[in-house]
Amino acid sequence: MAVRLDLFSRLDFYYLKSHLNELQSLYEEFPVKFFSLYFGLYVLVTALSLPGGASLLTLLGGAVMGFAPAFLAVAFASSTGATLAFWASRFLFKDLFEKKFKAQAKTAKQEVEKNGIYYLLTLRLVPIFPFFIVNILMGLTSMKALVFFFVSLIGMLPGIAIFVLTGRSFSEIESPRDIVSLKLIILLSLVGLLPLLMKFFLEKNRIRKLYRPFKKPKRFDYNTIVIGAGAGGLVSALITASLKAKVALVEKNKMGGDCLYTGCVPSKALINASKYIHLTGSAVDFSKVMNDIKVTQSHIEPHDSRERYTSLGVDCLKGVAKILSPFEVQIDEKIITARHLIIATGAQPRLPSIPGLDKVPYVTSETLWSLSDLPKKLLILGAGPIGCEMAQAFHRLGSTVFLVEGGKGILPKEDDDVSGVVEKKFRSEGIHLFLYTEAKEFVAHEQKYFLKAESLGKDVLIDFDLVLLATGRSANVYGFGLEDIGIEFNANGTLKTNNRMQTNFPNIFACGDVTGPYQLTHMAGYQAWFAAVNSLFGSIKSFSTDYKSVSWSTFTDPEVATAGLNETQLAKEAIDYEVTVFPFSELDRAIVDKKTEGFVKVLTKKGSDKILGASIVGPEASLLILEFVTALKYNKGMKDILSTIHPYPTLGEANKYAAGVWQKNHAPLFVLDVLEKFFRWRR
Ligand SMILES: Cc1cc2nc3c(=O)[nH]c(=O)nc-3n(C[C@H](O)[C@H](O)[C@H](O)COP(=O)(O)OP(=O)(O)OC[C@H]3O[C@@H](n4cnc5c(N)ncnc54)[C@H](O)[C@@H]3O)c2cc1C
Repeated sequence: MAVRLDLFSRLDFYYLKSHLNELQSLYEEFPVKFFSLYFGLYVLVTALSLPGGASLLTLLGGAVMGFAPAFLAVAFASSTGATLAFWASRFLFKDLFEKKFKAQAKTAKQEVEKNGIYYLLTLRLVPIFPFFIVNILMGLTSMKALVFFFVSLIGMLPGIAIFVLTGRSFSEIESPRDIVSLKLIILLSLVGLLPLLMKFFLEKNRIRKLYRPFKKPKRFDYNTIVIGAGAGGLVSALITASLKAKVALVEKNKMGGDCLYTGCVPSKALINASKYIHLTGSAVDFSKVMNDIKVTQSHIEPHDSRERYTSLGVDCLKGVAKILSPFEVQIDEKIITARHLIIATGAQPRLPSIPGLDKVPYVTSETLWSLSDLPKKLLILGAGPIGCEMAQAFHRLGSTVFLVEGGKGILPKEDDDVSGVVEKKFRSEGIHLFLYTEAKEFVAHEQKYFLKAESLGKDVLIDFDLVLLATGRSANVYGFGLEDIGIEFNANGTLKTNNRMQTNFPNIFACGDVTGPYQLTHMAGYQAWFAAVNSLFGSIKSFSTDYKSVSWSTFTDPEVATAGLNETQLAKEAIDYEVTVFPFSELDRAIVDKKTEGFVKVLTKKGSDKILGASIVGPEASLLILEFVTALKYNKGMKDILSTIHPYPTLGEANKYAAGVWQKNHAPLFVLDVLEKFFRWRR
């Protein structure tokens, strides 16, 4: 018993060495008792994370009990002790860690969910990572205790075996320093690479299986085939060609895609016309307005034309592309091959499944542009950016507009205070808003059309001449071979890509609306660069997208623009933030222009001037937001914006004044107090 107590209090190399014979006789006399006591002591030492205790006990185990019993005892005792320490850390520190370091905790959670087992295995195998720190750190993550126990057990086996074997020659070891040699550490570190190698080979195997059904051509017609000549496809083809790779760009319709023909360009041209009519009170000639849109498009068309892209080195092919294999694309009768494919097939309006839709006249953002008569009563379903922009434009052109939205407000992706400004404006202009309203059925009766809906428990009947469906957009992923070769999709139906814009087939990339998450022209162009460059050079060096400075604008009056994260997103991600607001009603230029609605709202990290996001609702918001886009991209803070010279009198000064409000809210009151006293004394 005396020896046992001594063991615990004097877990010391020289002490144990000098008592080795006594301990060996004890084990011979009472093997089961000794084993149990040894096991318990080992669990205690590892659970309490006593420095150096575990290695010494392992050596001792080998020296006293021999390889098999010591190996068994150490393997299970060390994993049990580690799991107890892991539990203690989780119980004591996890909540605190998640509260103090929300962003880091979130990243750690995602990483552990994805690669936790590999990390733990590596940490266990490489002896330079202290045992107890691994227990504590893993306790802070979301890893399951049972997984932690077994991975720790497996990961520690090689190290334990080496230590137990070394313990058998314990009597010959002169000092603790001789136990762990540099050679041993290098050897174990190499063993530590095993999980990473395992991961590498598993991935290789996954890819081999994925490509097994397809024959890879010996030579390719092109380096890259791009499918779809919209914003994403055009940019990726252009970058590929400018890097001197041979590229084919396949388009089934006209080059230019949604943005030019049915999206940004016609919608902004219509908004422009409606704004002019609203400001001047001119008579509306709708067919002229629609014709003007076509003229505008024809002026932009040359930028995206076949001629231009051909002159830039892109092989422009007309037709529907069908993917036959990860390397082969069929266009009509012709089959072409490429080492890489880039899918940029965009999205299309999603039709809601409302009974009776087929009985009423409806348009979508795709068919709206062929209207020749202004609808007298226009019903718009969906108050997202497209629905809102079109609601105000048609209202200003003279339609009576009914805007129906199932949610609590218009522009649901924006913060409530931001969309609230536009909502107020819409109501003041006379747009009929139906919020919290669920469309139930369309009814046609004697050339009249109605929507039966339910709004806050009440039945509503809206009569209209035409309905515009603005209820979201679905990615164009079906019907041209993607599903046949086994491409993976996201739950929302978009193409699944990693942050290098690569699909589950390493040679197939995607960009734009077909993959998301942002269905915007400039984001399609941004992603296109990564798709093009990573497809050509990814095996040497790849680049990852960074959406930190993403921005978008809605071209209502007043405009809405957001950069980075808004309050809704920050709250979802549980990030602590501060809000700074500067209203346009206090800005000289806005007063002069009589455009005082709205504000600049900046979200900063709590206790710092680091900008997390900004939302602007007001005049020229889509231009003003650029200063925050740059600040986000280059990690500039409110102090940088405040110290930048902004010309007077401009709307841009609103950004500087918002930074000024932030500075005022963070003035060092104590210093100012001292200064006041100092200057009083100086007077
Ligand atoms: C009304 C409206 C207003 C908008 N306003 C804005 C705005 O103000 N700002 C903004 O940033 N974004 C706006 N957008 C969104 C923007 O238009 C899209 O994000 C952008 O066009 C997406 O580009 P893309 O290259 O991904 O797809 P697209 O431009 O749709 O191009 C895809 C192309 O692929 C072709 N294609 C598809 N399948 C095949 C096939 N199998 N073979 C060959 N060709 C194929 C299609 O014909 C199409 O030309 C608006 C959209 C709409 C509808």
